Amino acid sequence: MSISIAFDNSYARLPDGFFSRLAPSPVSAPALLAFNATLATELGIDTSDPAGLAEVFAGNTVPAGADPLAQAYAGHQFGGFSPQLGDGRAVLLGEVLDQSGQRRDIALKGSGRTPYSRMGDGRAWLGPVLREYLLSEAMHALGIPTTRALAAVATGDPVLREHGPLPGAVLTRVASSHIRVGTFEFFAARRDLASLTALYDHTRARHYPDAKDPAEMLEAVIDRQAALVADWLSIGFIHGVMNTDNTTLSGETIDYGPAAFMDVYHPITVYSFIDRQGRYSYQNQSQIIAWNLAQLASALVPLMPDADAAVQQFTTMIHAMPARVEAERQLRFRRKLGLATRQEGDTALVDDLLKLMQDHGADFSNTFRGLIDGTARDQFADPAGFDAWHARWQHRLKAEDEPQALMRATNPAVIPRNHRVEQMIAAAVQGDFAPFERMLDVLQRPFDDHPEAADLKQPPRPDEVVQNTFC
Ligand code: AMP
Ligand code: MG
Ligand code: MG
Repeated sequence: MSISIAFDNSYARLPDGFFSRLAPSPVSAPALLAFNATLATELGIDTSDPAGLAEVFAGNTVPAGADPLAQAYAGHQFGGFSPQLGDGRAVLLGEVLDQSGQRRDIALKGSGRTPYSRMGDGRAWLGPVLREYLLSEAMHALGIPTTRALAAVATGDPVLREHGPLPGAVLTRVASSHIRVGTFEFFAARRDLASLTALYDHTRARHYPDAKDPAEMLEAVIDRQAALVADWLSIGFIHGVMNTDNTTLSGETIDYGPAAFMDVYHPITVYSFIDRQGRYSYQNQSQIIAWNLAQLASALVPLMPDADAAVQQFTTMIHAMPARVEAERQLRFRRKLGLATRQEGDTALVDDLLKLMQDHGADFSNTFRGLIDGTARDQFADPAGFDAWHARWQHRLKAEDEPQALMRATNPAVIPRNHRVEQMIAAAVQGDFAPFERMLDVLQRPFDDHPEAADLKQPPRPDEVVQNTFC
């Protein structure tokens, strides 16, 4: 028996230079570790044959109708341009139209070497696969646009990393597309106008059918990415590698390499081990997204009838972007304080609380959630400053009808804390998947109180703190 998936592969119909056709490389012993049956149903995938699912999502069987390929792209990595990146350890199996008619990519990550692997084995180990599975599903449950996780399969093959052999795994990722800023940069850098035009037409048809020209598409991407980064800031999320090849045209969060949620609030928090300069710190994300979209804007200029006019127009749009992110951020933090309306002084109310949290090393998630039940005060060793702020806030709340409901819907009780993620990975390496399954279950409903999961809500003890995350 083989798995039936109703593929309709539009990317594979693009010109040759967009990708390299190749099948995923088979693995020794596929075993299904996790499978997202709800998402599978949305995608119209029959789930009655677990062995068949393991074969397909390990890359050992290419299902009928798939047209597997590795996508070509370029990208600015930590500010420096790489003209040739591409899927070095991933293949797009194909696309399906989901139950609501939306086109979705089904891609394998960790599926072996491709023509775009420069160094590296094209594989992934269990840790990053489970981290991406858990974090992307948690983000979805938090209501934040993101790629999804459909399956995690153990390969039975060891993967060699710095500290020795680790268990190999393949993640099946579902995305509304894998078109990146770096995909546009790839063709713009080659001055390949025909391909750039084909990519624009494809992206427009897929994501921005109402855009009348590349300028309108850019405007729409700016909208979605400003909202996305503000969403990240509102829950203390730090992506970690905001290179332009990890910035989507769809506005979905993609590529959870060293991604992490903040425990103690500090605006320059960085976890990623490779981000030595803090380029992608928590607060820099607002500036970096504008920088990344400036690279998109540059790549779109050749598609405009008058290059000088386009440069001027795009520059104005990009310069306006950080203020746009800031407005979206303020909106979300007002809501976290229960403020559905906007009044003079609200910006100071938000930022004064954040400053107090920074000065006292308060836990980001537990302070905001603790505003609902009064436990926020416990975050402040010397509560005088907080008490004064609290009195201002209570006064402001008199103008609001339903602050509690709003706060319950915007301040998660539980997020995937780093130390719990690392403990979950350590257990999985030992063959114990119970922590993964439990976290995944709890994180499906992050806005519920979860009294049964107090351990997942607690910040790390000093000896549990994770300083660095690795991809
Ligand atoms: P990422 O950091 O996941 O965004 O990847 C950046 C680039 O490195 C992409 O082109 C990846 O395909 C490639 N890459 C990452 N890990 C590997 C690996 N283990 N083998 C080959 N290529 C890789
Ligand atoms: Mg990437
Ligand atoms: Mg990655």
